[in-house]
This record gives sequence, structure tokens and C-alpha cells, in this order.
Amino acid sequence: MQNKVIANEEINLQKVEKAEKIILGLQKDLKNYIENGSGPFLAAVYDDNGNLIAKTANSVINETCSNNHAEMNVIKATEKALGAYDLSGYNLSLYVTAEPCMMCLGGIMWSGIKEVYYSVPSKKVEEITGFDEGFKPDWFNEFKNRGIVVYGLIAEEEGERVLKDYVNSGYTVYQPERE
Ligand SMILES: [Zn+2]
Repeated sequence: MQNKVIANEEINLQKVEKAEKIILGLQKDLKNYIENGSGPFLAAVYDDNGNLIAKTANSVINETCSNNHAEMNVIKATEKALGAYDLSGYNLSLYVTAEPCMMCLGGIMWSGIKEVYYSVPSKKVEEITGFDEGFKPDWFNEFKNRGIVVYGLIAEEEGERVLKDYVNSGYTVYQPERE
């Protein structure tokens, strides 16, 4: 699984192993969140001592807000927990079951999160679900230029399986109507 991983720094296998463990856990938890009405994405923020600060799922449908992606929710929960809108002093890492969409990339950029780890790439998310993840030109390098480390394709097979289950179970895939 590890050879598939991509990153915007020289790949650090310790980080990959840690991220794999966390993301496999998120993918397992996600099934329960979905059964309770959440969308099919789950995110968590950890500090560099391995303490979980916040974990939240996509809640667009159950909280009636199109901005409530897992990453946006977890950033809000983290800032509330720490009492800070600038997280850059806390050395935090965000783990998420799919590549952040164009909105969430902006949210991550503004938050001061230092590292991002994701599982399923947007192209695959779009193929499997039909969600529109937006346009994201060269975001790996744009994040690198801003000192944000990114690792992708962590435990991707399991991530794809969870998304396929979501679609096959007939849960909602929402899409604003376009001409
Ligand atoms: Zn998003």
C-alpha cells in the first residue's frame, strides 16, 4: 500500500505508517457515522504528541449546510476546542478519508494546520460518487510554498470501498443543479 503514497516532501515512512493507522480507523468509524445520517467523509485533527483534538464527519445533509464538509467541521471543532482561530502554533495534522475539495483547501490554508493526510483522490471520489470536487490547480506545490505538508493515497483501497458502499446503499449524493 505504501508505494502508492504521494507527498509534497520526501516521503517519511514513519509519517505514512502513523497516517495509515489513523485513516484506517477513520474509515472503520465512518460506517457508523453514515448510518447515523452523516455524509461519507470523516476527518480528524491530531497534535504532534498523537493526541486527538477533534473528529467530525460531513454533516451537509443532517445539519442543512452545504459548507459542512468533514474538514471544515473538524477545523471549526479544533479551533473551538483550543480557543484559537490561528492554529499555526499548535503543530496540528489533519487526516481525512478523501482529498479535500476546493473549499476545504481554502479552509485548511486559513486555519494554520501544518500537515494534511488524505486517502481517496478527488478524481476517484468523483468517479465513484458523482460529487464535484472543484478545480485545484497544482495545490500540492501551492501548499508546499506555504509550508503545508501533504500526503495522499493513504489506505486508498479501503477508502474507495467505503465510498462504493455509500453509493450502493442508496444514500444521497447531492449536487447543485447546473445548466
Ligand atoms: Zn470539502
